[in-house]
Amino acid sequence: MISNFPIPYPNELIYSVIARYAVHNGIISPKYLTEELFNSRNLTPTYDLSTHLDRLASYLPDHYDAHSLIQNHTLFPLFQPFQPDSVVNYAVQALRSERTQSLHTRLGKNASRIKSVNFFRFCPHCWQEQMEQYGEVYWKRSWQITGYEYCTRHQQPLFVSSVPCNGLDRKFYVAHLNALKDSSQLEFNPQDLHHHIELAELIEELLTHSTYITVQDFSILSKAYFNLLKDKDLLSGQKNVNYEKVRQLVVNYWGESFLQYYHLGDLRSENCWLKNICRKHRKAFSYLEHLILIRALSPKYSPIHTYQQYLDMATTAIEEQTITVNVKPEINQTLSEDQLKWIQLIHDMSVKLARKHDGALYARLYRNHKDWLLQINQTAVMAPLSPPKPRVDWNVRDRQFMKQLIKIRDELLEDLDSPQWTKKKLIKQLGHVSLIEKNWHFLPLTKTFLERYAESVDCYQIRRLTRTYIHQQTENKYYPPSIFLRLSGLSPERLTPEARRFFNHIMG
Ligand SMILES: [Zn+2]
Repeated sequence: MISNFPIPYPNELIYSVIARYAVHNGIISPKYLTEELFNSRNLTPTYDLSTHLDRLASYLPDHYDAHSLIQNHTLFPLFQPFQPDSVVNYAVQALRSERTQSLHTRLGKNASRIKSVNFFRFCPHCWQEQMEQYGEVYWKRSWQITGYEYCTRHQQPLFVSSVPCNGLDRKFYVAHLNALKDSSQLEFNPQDLHHHIELAELIEELLTHSTYITVQDFSILSKAYFNLLKDKDLLSGQKNVNYEKVRQLVVNYWGESFLQYYHLGDLRSENCWLKNICRKHRKAFSYLEHLILIRALSPKYSPIHTYQQYLDMATTAIEEQTITVNVKPEINQTLSEDQLKWIQLIHDMSVKLARKHDGALYARLYRNHKDWLLQINQTAVMAPLSPPKPRVDWNVRDRQFMKQLIKIRDELLEDLDSPQWTKKKLIKQLGHVSLIEKNWHFLPLTKTFLERYAESVDCYQIRRLTRTYIHQQTENKYYPPSIFLRLSGLSPERLTPEARRFFNHIMG
């Protein structure tokens, strides 16, 4: 059983956590590492979609599970919202278990136009902050995403290290300040800078919200895009998409050099991504293609939101198709009572909620005023993308933790045999490891206490020497120095200068 697997830091790739485990435990051999963690000597590490997550979650405190690791510590949220349910389910099973071979192929990653990152990337200012907060640095997942070229926190382009993250002889590389030496900052066309920043922000939003989006199958996606293009007046006739207009819109919004930077510059050939995404969907498109097109079509709204809204509409329409009998054309000039009622409802709540609230009304309107309904629904109150988080009173929490810590320490003071009271160990006893580690700055009392009372190596060694000394006195014996040290679990080489002074003193 692995008991000292590191807690993932916010936004840290699970790959990076594994690399830190190796370093913390002095494991140099990759085969030994995977044998110890996964019981397999032949595991090729992947930085983006790490597998064996059920097993890794079992090494972590109870509130971690494969689901939370997937959502917060892999790049899967980039794929999930754009894949049909069947593929998402397959992938989640693969990530949880030990099946690895076809996952990237199944997600279309290998065939994608979007080039994956080949060398680990980082923001030196974020590293500085990580160093101050955690005493070590780590690989953040957003840095390794094509399209996230710019640290939104420190407002500057990322650096590319010389540490490979792809290639045949991959291994687990820990993030290290040494990487600064052989790294170079990304360079873009200055006129595209604002678009790179915009894209990085959209990717951050996608990472946070992707879990709420599901796609039944490709037909829903085709329908959603068709409706979106139709609403934006980009059809010629009833059914044909006016590609030229769509192309113009995309180029005008993002500019050619920006699109070329991501290998998405070809918008004219018969099989180019833009034409294909406007046609019937037969395979998944990448997050970049979706974000770039939807933002250009509807610049005022969040593309994730627009995407979700049109998916919902398409899903609803397909569900309704099965129960709809003749849809009457719209003839009434004045609004019916039902219509007025609906307007009132969507004034106060999202379409989804309104539908739940009065399903019969919705069904009636759908049968009798379908076009009107779909149009009016776009003016509805937007559903929040994620449920609001309950507010935490940090002052109260801080005092609670502090009281708990005093109690824990008082108990430990009596117990000379306990293992070293490191900061980590004390936090673990509080039972809210991730909450505390993520919110250090809200918990000043807890932080001060831990800094003051966590046991240094000096103190720990002195405690062990004291324990042996007490034994010696109570049993009325005298141990020669080498035996004394052995009984204390120490050796002359391991003694710190402070502990050595203490040792010399008690040995007279
Ligand atoms: Zn940064």
